[in-house]
Amino acid sequence: MAAPGLSGAGFSDRSAAVATIAARHAAEVDSAPRFPAEAFAAAKAQRLLGILVPSDLGGEGAPVREVADVCYRLGQACSSTAMIYAMHQVKVACLVRHGRGSEAIERLLRRLCAEQLLLASSTTEGQGGGNVRSSEAAVEHRDGRIHLERRASVISYGSQADGIVTTARRAADAESSDQVLVAFLEDDYTLTRLQGWNTLGMRGTCSEGYNLKASGLPGQILPEPYEVIHQRTMVPFAHLLWGSVWAGIAAGAAARAQAFVRHAARHAGGQAPPGAPQLTQALSKLRTLRGVLANSLRAYESKMDDPKALGALDFQSQITLTKVEVSELAVATVLTALRVCGLSGYRCDSEFSIERQLRDVLSSPLMINNDRILSSLAGTSLMSAVPTSLRD
Ligand SMILES: Cc1cc2nc3c(=O)[nH]c(=O)nc-3n(C[C@H](O)[C@H](O)[C@H](O)COP(=O)(O)OP(=O)(O)OC[C@H]3O[C@@H](n4cnc5c(N)ncnc54)[C@H](O)[C@@H]3O)c2cc1C
Repeated sequence: MAAPGLSGAGFSDRSAAVATIAARHAAEVDSAPRFPAEAFAAAKAQRLLGILVPSDLGGEGAPVREVADVCYRLGQACSSTAMIYAMHQVKVACLVRHGRGSEAIERLLRRLCAEQLLLASSTTEGQGGGNVRSSEAAVEHRDGRIHLERRASVISYGSQADGIVTTARRAADAESSDQVLVAFLEDDYTLTRLQGWNTLGMRGTCSEGYNLKASGLPGQILPEPYEVIHQRTMVPFAHLLWGSVWAGIAAGAAARAQAFVRHAARHAGGQAPPGAPQLTQALSKLRTLRGVLANSLRAYESKMDDPKALGALDFQSQITLTKVEVSELAVATVLTALRVCGLSGYRCDSEFSIERQLRDVLSSPLMINNDRILSSLAGTSLMSAVPTSLRD
């Protein structure tokens, strides 16, 4: 489907145009480190920020798989650009799927499409680490308005975003797991920087820590409890879109390894270098990774409007484990690509360097830690039957 005013260009052409610009600036975004401003100016020009929003609100109603493909293409060019784009779309998905009928949320989505607003996410808080289903700070209702102050230990591109979608405890007397999701636009909040972002990889996401102080109207709280949003949208979209970014990083490394083998063979009278068999392994891992992702994308798309199917234990395990499997396979693919390229891959100044991809992809098992995920599924694994036939 074409974006208004983009002369019939589809998602592939538009994301390819952004990827070209993202790739051009990726090294500098990483080394500075800084927000990938050029790539996001291009994404806005290509009107890629609102594609998930239904057309009656000014978007294009893009299916999940199309958004995942944009993430995959961007991931090959600049990991930070791709991850920022993915995080934004996860938040948009929550608003689209759980904010319909809410005047404030629909108004926000219309503005998002018209002005190509960029949304950040705040779930990590205080000492809570990656436990998304627990919040400390509570929403307060005063003078007909809502107020929230939270120590957000990580908000990627918090300073560059046009809005923040945050989890919060429903009220001062609510349990930590009784959460809501609230959408604030830039005018609604102040950010006081608590911590910088000097990390091994994903440096351009600028995931600094802030004290977030926000105020808005009660309608900015999504009508459904966060528990429901988490299960039906937040987890599936996050795992599928982050996974697509990591798959893109892995594909970028595999392409570099392939270029290295071709280059080495050309300079050795056609004889393949010793690392060539590892290329087959890298490509095989990438194929497996893409298979896991495609399977989960299909499963989610087929169930996404069926709350009962989304809540089923089998589906919840599948979508949760997708994150674990895809991240582990992405790391393995990039490491195998490094072995193909040998010292040329290990060098930071070579055209076949795998350095940046390796640093970036190492964030994938930590971004909601795989150990945390696996331990949360330990009970389910004990209860689920081991298949006895290949037909199941
Ligand atoms: C690139 C990047 C961007 C991010 N952007 C954002 C953002 O925009 N907004 C946001 O809110 N957050 C963001 N985060 C944070 C992310 O969502 C997680 O909160 C964070 O990665 C968890 O960090 P942690 O390792 O400190 O915490 P934990 O998940 O608490 O893990 C800490 C340690 O405890 C271990 N551990 C934890 N639980 C268990 C368990 N049950 N069993 C065994 N071991 C366990 C882990 O192995 C790990 O070693 C970002 C993270 C990254 C890497």
